[in-house]
Amino acid sequence: MPLQIYIAGKLYDKEDAKISVYDHGLLYGDGVFEGMRSYSGKVFRLAEHLDRLWDSAQAIWLTIPMTKEEMAKAVYDTLKVNGIEDGYIRLVVTRGAGSLGLDPNRTSNPQVIIITDHIALYPREYYEKGLELVTASTMRNHPAALSPRIKSLNYLNNILAKIEGLKAGCVEALMLNHKGEVAECTGDNIFLIAKGELLTPPIDAGILEGITRNAVIDIARDAGITTREISLTRYDVYVADECFLTGSAAEVIPVVKVDNREIGAGVPGPITQDLIRRFHELTRK
Ligand code: PMP
Repeated sequence: MPLQIYIAGKLYDKEDAKISVYDHGLLYGDGVFEGMRSYSGKVFRLAEHLDRLWDSAQAIWLTIPMTKEEMAKAVYDTLKVNGIEDGYIRLVVTRGAGSLGLDPNRTSNPQVIIITDHIALYPREYYEKGLELVTASTMRNHPAALSPRIKSLNYLNNILAKIEGLKAGCVEALMLNHKGEVAECTGDNIFLIAKGELLTPPIDAGILEGITRNAVIDIARDAGITTREISLTRYDVYVADECFLTGSAAEVIPVVKVDNREIGAGVPGPITQDLIRRFHELTRK
């Protein structure tokens, strides 16, 4: 059976899973989304993802046409019908089809889409040897213009930075905020280890509050590692002992080079490796 995609309460074969070209999600990037993981049939931190989806929707005046409980059930039903235990889940809520103008009042039927698929992690080599990043010249969206806390369908800010990274031969790129501080990467949050402490930019640095980020902060605190959310600059990155990224798709991935400078010893560090092990224990028990 072909992969089944959930759209507005019905399941469709992947090839037939389509929405209107008048949907404002397509015309204007007007909508919100989530990316989640399931491990052994259980969705990792589902409640947190649903809270963030609902908050993103509220921030753009979008009413999701179902309850969180109904969404959770639809997610599990879609996983089940596709026989996926360990997978990636994409939730999308669009503004719905409307007229060829911005006015969201002239749209109807926000579309809820659930895609469950197999996960394409970064190649294993990156986890073993670590990633290389460059700093993108594209700064992260100014929080007073479009809050990076909203996980909206308009990802051009991150895509432009991603292109800069790819053109420099890097699969991820570091993004700075409007103050020139370290914000995050195009689809992952960033952490440093310096003098035995775990450091990561605070939410008000203009970042997406990653669910994996929060899980790693919990894990580190439980492990007795001093963890601080503080403003960081590229100086802090360059002199750090270790660096890694977090995200639902990437999980925890080491970074060994930024802007052609080796971080620490230029290999995945011991605290990073310990946190990767602890994250695996949490998700794969
Ligand atoms: N920052 C950005 C810009 C993202 O798009 C994502 C999600 N891919 C993350 C951080 C990581 O968030 P999470 O751990 O919730 O996947």
